[in-house]
Amino acid sequence: MQFGLTDEQEMIVSTVRSFVEKEIYPHEDLVERTGEVPKEVADEIKRKTIELGFYACNFPEEVGGAGLNHLEFALVERELGRGSMALNHFFGRPQNILMACEGDQKERYLLPAVRGERMDALAMTEPGAGSDVRGMKCSAVRDGGDWVVNGTKHFISGADHADFIIVFIATGEDMTPKGPKKRITAFLVDRGTPGFTIRDGYKSVSHRGYKNMILEFDDCRLPDAQVLGEVDGGFEVMNTWLYATRITVATMSVGRARRVFDYALTYAAEREQFGQQIAKFQGVSFQIADMITEIDAADLLTLNSAWRLDQGLPANREIASAKVYATEMLARVTDAALQIYGGMGLMSDYPIERFWRDARVERIWDGTSEIQRHIISRELFRPLGA
Ligand SMILES: Cc1cc2nc3c(=O)[nH]c(=O)nc-3n(C[C@H](O)[C@H](O)[C@H](O)COP(=O)(O)OP(=O)(O)OC[C@H]3O[C@@H](n4cnc5c(N)ncnc54)[C@H](O)[C@@H]3O)c2cc1C
Repeated sequence: MQFGLTDEQEMIVSTVRSFVEKEIYPHEDLVERTGEVPKEVADEIKRKTIELGFYACNFPEEVGGAGLNHLEFALVERELGRGSMALNHFFGRPQNILMACEGDQKERYLLPAVRGERMDALAMTEPGAGSDVRGMKCSAVRDGGDWVVNGTKHFISGADHADFIIVFIATGEDMTPKGPKKRITAFLVDRGTPGFTIRDGYKSVSHRGYKNMILEFDDCRLPDAQVLGEVDGGFEVMNTWLYATRITVATMSVGRARRVFDYALTYAAEREQFGQQIAKFQGVSFQIADMITEIDAADLLTLNSAWRLDQGLPANREIASAKVYATEMLARVTDAALQIYGGMGLMSDYPIERFWRDARVERIWDGTSEIQRHIISRELFRPLGA
């Protein structure tokens, strides 16, 4: 068993960490205040990421990516997790589901996305279909050679900057012994397609400036050339390519927790009450001890799940455990950090209240904590027939 990183992996960590410290941290206050990422800042982050050779680092070298494996990519995401989501969005990591592109879709979507020329977003969720993706109402019906799409998607991250969106749409229904079951197809939808509108979504308490958008389809016509993967094969492409994205949420939570921890540690060592540093009170120092223990545990769970994927080992349960534990750890760690800061922790003069707000969404997106627990328990009980 080898827990250490190789020299190359250490270099990935230090390169991305210093990028985040130099190129992301200085703009965070502005994004917090305005809720916007200025275009020139976004362009600069993208340009420097390309220059660094890290743009689309999650893609194989044969399509122009950096060819990182799951473990190396988790290390990149962990360091990015320290910085603002709104800003590190431009340290582009296109959806790896684009690897399902066939024929001229490669020239139109995959390769420009990897080169940073076109940005993507991914849309599954609807107002009436969140955890239950198959409950979606957005549907496409055949009309001549085209598909005609009607419906609404919401909570779509990054769609404000996207040139095209990978959208999951119901293309039929099968009757099964358990009742009707939607057939789902993934489509590539260009911004500007007639009948397709992207509009502002809701104002979220987490990750200011990282906007979620609403997509509306009103008799939007899409030719077969826009189908990603097979017609009715949406779940296959989803399971093949989106399976691992929960690791991203877990590892970013670990990165952010380490940043918050450093603030709490320093504050506890410097702040004095009753004539001594508050770190000398066991009520504070034991919180610090619990925080670092949980962070390390989440880190190991997360890297282990990525490593298992690289080894071709089953990893579904391990990824779910990492996601649920790391995101709930982040909630506890940010809350404890805020407690250590006392009243000042709630004030926007320090970034602690921001980390505390930002932590909340991690337990919801990419599958809620309850859904992760469902995945874990199902894997354990299934072999027992329960
Ligand atoms: C800021 C933000 C950005 C997002 N970005 C995207 C995006 O880019 N693309 C995209 O497609 N989606 C995106 N999402 C959607 C996200 O993945 C969903 O919010 C999430 O899957 C939960 O769906 P829901 O919010 O509709 O909650 P619901 O599914 O309505 O769940 C409500 C509650 O019921 C619980 N629950 C539901 N089913 C079960 C069950 N079987 N067992 C136990 N408990 C259950 C849930 O855990 C939750 O506590 C985003 C969400 C947010 C908040």
